[in-house]
Amino acid sequence: MDLGEKISLLAGAAKYDASCASSGSGISAGNGRGGEGSFGFSLPAGVCHSWTEDGRCVSLLKVLYSNVCRFDCAYCVNRASADTKRSSFTVDELVELTVEFYRRNYIEGLFLSSGIFADPDTVMEKLIATARKLRTERGYGGYIHLKIIPGSGEKLIREAGLWADRLSANIELPTEKSLHRLAPQKSGKVIFSAMEEVSETGRENEEDRRRIKSAPVFAPAGQSTQLIVGASGEDDRQIISLSSSLYRKFALRRVYYSAFTPVGLPGLGGIPDSRLPDIPGPPLLREHRLYQADWLLRFYHFSAHEILDDASPFLDPHLDPKTAWAIKHPDFFPVEINRASYEELLRVPGVGAKTARRVLEARRSRTLSFDGLRRLGAVVKRARYFITLSGAFPDRDSQKIAEDPGRIRRVLSDRDGAGLQLPLFEF
Ligand code: SF4
Repeated sequence: MDLGEKISLLAGAAKYDASCASSGSGISAGNGRGGEGSFGFSLPAGVCHSWTEDGRCVSLLKVLYSNVCRFDCAYCVNRASADTKRSSFTVDELVELTVEFYRRNYIEGLFLSSGIFADPDTVMEKLIATARKLRTERGYGGYIHLKIIPGSGEKLIREAGLWADRLSANIELPTEKSLHRLAPQKSGKVIFSAMEEVSETGRENEEDRRRIKSAPVFAPAGQSTQLIVGASGEDDRQIISLSSSLYRKFALRRVYYSAFTPVGLPGLGGIPDSRLPDIPGPPLLREHRLYQADWLLRFYHFSAHEILDDASPFLDPHLDPKTAWAIKHPDFFPVEINRASYEELLRVPGVGAKTARRVLEARRSRTLSFDGLRRLGAVVKRARYFITLSGAFPDRDSQKIAEDPGRIRRVLSDRDGAGLQLPLFEF
């Protein structure tokens, strides 16, 4: 197979992995990773234009080292039983490809994963060898995201973080039971242990670097993971609880949610598998709501059990989760914008974290009006039913609607989830 065919095969095979984003690294060429005379610059999120509207990264060369796999995960196009063409790169091919694409400005970085074509250490070594060669022999200073192969040794995980900006081990399914059913060769315990190794090493590295400034940096953009949504029967409450615990335990930077794509569909490769749900297409709205709920965990100081509980285990498809929470908690509202704490402001639909900070700042010198709040960036058509300004609702209509949760729901209902885009939208 020639190189062009390999690229199209192995880039196509990697496209279902959502766990990449060149965010928060701040690593530039010449700071010790690419070495003297190096090229490439990996910028923090928002500057390198690597985000799509739903938070996915588009500017990385995203490929598999190999799509040969010993595992037989039901949801995966590369599973051992799938009737698909197989191929693998060599380390040199991948290094040359990355350098060439980078020099031509096609990409800003490399996202490298692989099928399990051999034992975990051998697969991990190939990924590391690619990153090492890029950094040490080719002076590459751009972004690198390496997949951690669960089960590979501690020493390898430690080395991977010396060359990569970000590492990720995909948990894929929310419970051990689902892993056992759909990805029988995978084990949650082994995956968590890889995450723990990354987070422990990262913590030790931070301490080392506080003492010794020249100590090498370990995975400065941290670690992420991916959860597939809709391939197994777990509810949103289980998914959000798991994410919350991953953020807490392993200091993950991001959990990515990937709507399950039925791989048996014509044109998507693979064969239908009776263990998988028969759905017409990926549950994109559910994925979108989970991203919004995740946003609440990370930036709005919500806990998992505030967002979802036993009585409502699924996110409301018609309302963003912050508005859904607000409608269920009428006692909390209205929030007086001119007196509320930062925490209280964060709970108001339509007031994002940035706007809440601006409100606190502006209040030092003036009393805010409705227009003033709008100018600070609040989405007032959403906020108006939940706030007062100097004791009064923005207008009579808002007050009337605020007294009736059913009406607020009707007014703010978003029937198909359109228009609620993250991360650009503050909600
Ligand atoms: S380990 Fe599972 S998810 Fe990963 S490539 Fe192999 S079959 Fe696909």
